Amino acid sequence: MLDKLPLPLQNLVYKFSQFPGVGPKSALRMVMELLNWPEDKVITLGKDILELKSRLKPCKYCQALTEEDPCSICADPTRDETLLCVVADLDSMFVLEEPGFYRGKYFILGGLLSPLDGKESESLNTEALENRLRYGQIKEVILALGSTVEAENTASYVKNLVNSKFPKINITRLAQGIPLGAEVKYMDKETLRQSLNFRQKL
Ligand SMILES: [Zn+2]
Repeated sequence: MLDKLPLPLQNLVYKFSQFPGVGPKSALRMVMELLNWPEDKVITLGKDILELKSRLKPCKYCQALTEEDPCSICADPTRDETLLCVVADLDSMFVLEEPGFYRGKYFILGGLLSPLDGKESESLNTEALENRLRYGQIKEVILALGSTVEAENTASYVKNLVNSKFPKINITRLAQGIPLGAEVKYMDKETLRQSLNFRQKL
């Protein structure tokens, strides 16, 4: 389909189809929409894309991409200085932050360990994490990494690291188990296993 298109269209459709969840057909629809936009809107979009990386830098405390360093969360004196929620990436932080009930600080690990894909411990922000724990007032590290195999491996790696270097800091993790509104008969085996392991007293 694509090779029938003029080259400038082909180029852009190919690039848009590299976004997660976007196939060539949706990419083509997006490009067609761009063609309908007034020129100044297209130019602004191009400029926004160009500036995306140059205007953002990692926050020196949490590693989240930010225009201001430290970021607004790290700079907020009303947030609990003793709680540090460790997440894999920036989007996980946004999802946790969105409902507004977590009032501690964050740390972005920069991914999950996945040795088969070449993601070893050197690729994580472990040095920055150690500095954060060494110079901050953190009393509890909450691991919010998910429950995939990579997340489990990463959680035990971070746990060992914190235990060995900062034995006074408590480590917790998000509870695992059955999501709200779900029925036991539709649960997969792994979720059930986790729910049983992390069962609570009634
Ligand atoms: Zn920050």
